[in-house]
Amino acid sequence: MPHPNPAADLAVVGAGPAGLAAAVTAAGLGLRVTLLDAGERPGGQYYRHPAPELGAARPEALHHGWSAFAEREAALQAHRSAGRITYLPSHHVWTVVPDGSDGWALYAVAGTGPDEEAATVHARAVLLATGSYERQLPFPGWTLPGVVGAGGAQAMLKSGLVLPGRRVVVAGSGPLLLAVAGSLAAAGARVPAVVEAAAYTAYAGHVPALLRNPGKLAEGATYGSALLRRHIRLLTRHAVTEAHGADRVEAVTVARLDRHWRPVPGTARRIPCDALAVGHGLVPQLELATGLGCATRPAADGTVALALDAEQRTSVPGIWSAGETGGIGGAQLALLEGEIAAHSVAAHSPAARSGVPSAATRSASGGPVAPAALARRRARLRAFAAAMGAAHRPADGWTGWLREDTDVCRCEEVPAGRIREAVSDLGARDARTVKLLTRAGMGWCQGRMCGPAVAALAGDGPAPDRRPLSCPVPLGHLAELPPADA
Ligand SMILES: Cc1cc2nc3c(=O)[nH]c(=O)nc-3n(C[C@H](O)[C@H](O)[C@H](O)COP(=O)(O)OP(=O)(O)OC[C@H]3O[C@@H](n4cnc5c(N)ncnc54)[C@H](O)[C@@H]3O)c2cc1C
Repeated sequence: MPHPNPAADLAVVGAGPAGLAAAVTAAGLGLRVTLLDAGERPGGQYYRHPAPELGAARPEALHHGWSAFAEREAALQAHRSAGRITYLPSHHVWTVVPDGSDGWALYAVAGTGPDEEAATVHARAVLLATGSYERQLPFPGWTLPGVVGAGGAQAMLKSGLVLPGRRVVVAGSGPLLLAVAGSLAAAGARVPAVVEAAAYTAYAGHVPALLRNPGKLAEGATYGSALLRRHIRLLTRHAVTEAHGADRVEAVTVARLDRHWRPVPGTARRIPCDALAVGHGLVPQLELATGLGCATRPAADGTVALALDAEQRTSVPGIWSAGETGGIGGAQLALLEGEIAAHSVAAHSPAARSGVPSAATRSASGGPVAPAALARRRARLRAFAAAMGAAHRPADGWTGWLREDTDVCRCEEVPAGRIREAVSDLGARDARTVKLLTRAGMGWCQGRMCGPAVAALAGDGPAPDRRPLSCPVPLGHLAELPPADA
């Protein structure tokens, strides 16, 4: 039976910078909002909090721009008290489908362990702000204990106040490496080197985008001077090509790369360490969006992002998106896009508070748009993000540091040799065929870890991975679903 009366004007999935900004802005514009997040606290990947029982005196010390979060969190609490926002933490949305009455049904797994239960939310409009996850390029030894994601190391520090080791090499590619090295060193770790596969000279081709973002340049300079102050070596055009150790990592091999990211013979050397924090940028998290059929676009960093219009609308009417789902760009851009999306949802909603949308969100021609200043800032930050993405985009030669026995899919333990065999002997030309032939990408993480690597080995371009469920769902929850024609 169609759902007669959607409970919310807007359901926001994800309470990171984008979703949080969208929820409080939309509530301020008079919409009834339901905000769902898989995590226990708002803030997403960037504004991670130490668990309350750790008693951190200054949780803001590990963040830039904490006040932007604190303001929105205070607004969230005020809107909750006023009944304008229903906030549902620990709700992992696994699918979004039309509810048969001009709205959407969101199905979620709520809680964990024995308290886990099925939850359903109905809304007229949906905003997907599901963020991103780290891109990993495998190398021999990457499954050793002590090898963690670069963002993962930052997350351990921000939410657990723990270091992955005492002597930590930071490696991979992208601006996150500098932030991670700085945080680890400030928290007491020794960082023998930051190993960056790209060359910073790659930014030279994007001077206009850089000059339009002096704030971002200053942020980069701050990270750079923090490394200098702490005597941390920055090795550009280098990569960790192997991690060594018996029970955990004890050293890494670092080699110089040519411009195709192929290791240059004769340049390998060892750096002793007890942890390696490694990541090659971030990948937009699109399962819910691609499940709905939202159009995607190739992004400058080699990933696939959602195709969005100037109002943050996806190609599916009634579905908006903001933040890293539309391309990797940082927390500031995510906050901004959340606000722009909320203005657009309000402008299209009959429920918005009368008067507010007109002056603030409608153009002279009557079309609904967000305030022009927000759109200008977004354009500036998106241009910077594209320049950054292009500069750090992995080149194909990285596969040269794999050995035949290096596990590429660590869930299903599929080595590079088996994937190469599927391509050269069995004719696989894309990641999906490789998956069917080898099981690479069929494990618990559903290809989040190995997806980019498998695609590269198959010679496949970036393509959205369409999966019907965005996370593991108990069979009992599926059994509780109404029949398809209900
Ligand atoms: C591991 C990691 C560490 C990072 N560390 C830094 C850093 O130190 N410094 C920095 O500048 N940038 C960092 N970034 C990048 C930064 O987090 C982003 O730029 C910023 O947080 C983007 O905001 P967002 O709102 O788009 O997404 P996010 O902050 O990622 O928020 C997305 C939210 O959506 C929720 N979510 C996702 N899927 C679902 C679902 N199906 N159901 C319910 N909820 C869902 C998640 O729980 C999360 O709270 C990191 C990114 C990652 C992945």
